[in-house]
Amino acid sequence: MSEIVQNDQPAEERRFSGLAASPGIGIGKAFVHGGVTAEPEAYRVEQGDVEGEIARLEVALVETRKQIEQLQEQVGRTANGHREASIFDAHLLMLEDRSVLDEVISIVRGERVNIDSACYRTINNYIAVLRVSDDVYLKQRVVDFEDVMRRILRNLSLRHPADQRVRHPHVLIAHELTPSDTAAMDRSLVMGFATEVGGSTAHTAIIARSLGLPAVLGLRGICDAIHTGDSLLIDGYDGILIINPSPETLTVYDALADEKNSAAKRLEDIRDSKPETSDGREITLSANIEFEHEVSIAKENGAQGIGLYRTEFFYMHDGDMPSEDHQAENYSRVVSGIEPDGVIIRTVDIGGDKLPAGVSEPEANPFLGWRGVRLTLARVEMFKAQLRAILRAGAAGNVSVMFPMLSTLDEMKRCRLLLEECADELVREGVEHSREIDVGAMIEVPSAALISDQIAGEVDFLSVGTNDLIQYTMAVDRDNDQVASLYQPLNPAVIRLLRMTVSAGHEKKIWVGVCGEMASDLLCIPLLVGLGFDEFSVSAPRVPSVKHALRSLSYDECKAMATEALKYSGQEDILASCRALAMESYPELLSR
Ligand code: PEP
Ligand code: MG
Repeated sequence: MSEIVQNDQPAEERRFSGLAASPGIGIGKAFVHGGVTAEPEAYRVEQGDVEGEIARLEVALVETRKQIEQLQEQVGRTANGHREASIFDAHLLMLEDRSVLDEVISIVRGERVNIDSACYRTINNYIAVLRVSDDVYLKQRVVDFEDVMRRILRNLSLRHPADQRVRHPHVLIAHELTPSDTAAMDRSLVMGFATEVGGSTAHTAIIARSLGLPAVLGLRGICDAIHTGDSLLIDGYDGILIINPSPETLTVYDALADEKNSAAKRLEDIRDSKPETSDGREITLSANIEFEHEVSIAKENGAQGIGLYRTEFFYMHDGDMPSEDHQAENYSRVVSGIEPDGVIIRTVDIGGDKLPAGVSEPEANPFLGWRGVRLTLARVEMFKAQLRAILRAGAAGNVSVMFPMLSTLDEMKRCRLLLEECADELVREGVEHSREIDVGAMIEVPSAALISDQIAGEVDFLSVGTNDLIQYTMAVDRDNDQVASLYQPLNPAVIRLLRMTVSAGHEKKIWVGVCGEMASDLLCIPLLVGLGFDEFSVSAPRVPSVKHALRSLSYDECKAMATEALKYSGQEDILASCRALAMESYPELLSR
């Protein structure tokens, strides 16, 4: 995180820059959550709830003791662990010493404040006293004391998630948010969020964009720099977080919001126009959705169907896939909702950054692990229930299915065979369905791109998941802001794989689309058009601007530019060519 403006105004306005993860402007009071040192919100509790608050502390203490004992055991098992493990004896003794905890309890009883806030205050007071103590032994205890107390605080907050407590509009500040945290956010209360870690194609960021929630990620240290109650402005366009925005800043942002609204209104005029280039190449422009309710947003924005229906939300909500009937009903509603256009349902891509806790053993490298079809092909009953539900939804309208995380041809073939097996079963059982659904392969692993000619022979379409393809080609975790500069959509290695995939599909006379976030990156669109992609699938709110970009570009110019770009050795040159064409074709979309 870098602080980019030194204060030259009387108000203590401060700005921090991070990764622009989801566009929009959010203004509100901060609520800091999740950071180990984050300050919990203070609120008054009813007299009748005081004992409940104290009980929460007791539960957190039991949890804390368990964790320390486990740590002690783990450390004790290592070669020189015996001595280190004795440190935890001191920690356990601190838990026995009730004097600090009794002080916390008496604050809760006396002031009727929540336990987290009483705990936080007491701990900070003690730490302040210990730090200035002349007694060397006491001074050395600060680290241990802090460690134990922070653990208690964390256990308290885990047992009482922040977003359930905050009932007023706020800007959420957190160390990290999971996709399900983000999906559960109440849009009327959360004005935007900023986190210390995360990348702009992490699933959390994708969900923020589909919810229209301004977000800035990768603001290291922000949980310590901001306190609950601070006034904040979050600028998701440029990835800036402003503490105590001055009246002048607020005026500037008011004007920006007006400008963005008018630009969005202007784009409404092309809502019903075709997304074809200025020289007549027709491209399909569809929407990515995460949740059923987004069908109407896709339609309002003029999408030509759903190019990617992610189905992980079932897991996020329930921690498991629901029954076949439940899924079939959901898919059929989406199909009917988007008629006469179609929907491409992506089979569940559990794993990577999308795996909710408890589904499988934690993995050391989840992105290289049990994910997508690797998992579903191993959990055949679960997979078949989804495939049967998709085939059943085919009876309601235009449905396609595609498979995520393919790395071999064999996986693709096995997916197809299972689909056929499911269709045969449905015939035997006399259950209404359609087996005439199109089948697609997601190309998001370099090995799949490299054999896309073989995969193309097995399917009706290819859809490139650039979020993952970039991550795996560059060996860069898409969630990790520390390596974000290496996450390069326009790297020569990436664009060669893209070109290879498009050629492989066209060779086999099937269409090839892009459903990763690159398809809505205004600077990358000229290259994707030039490479010959037939379909762009982007998050629903981005459909209008992508349509405008497509309609402003000349296919011939893009093709010539892409041919040259493929000869370049660095992403900077490719980016410069793309930018030049984008600036010439749709400068109004690129201005801030
Ligand atoms: C992708 O990887 O580009 C993609 C569309 O899938 P997801 O973001 O859901 O992994
Ligand atoms: Mg993917």
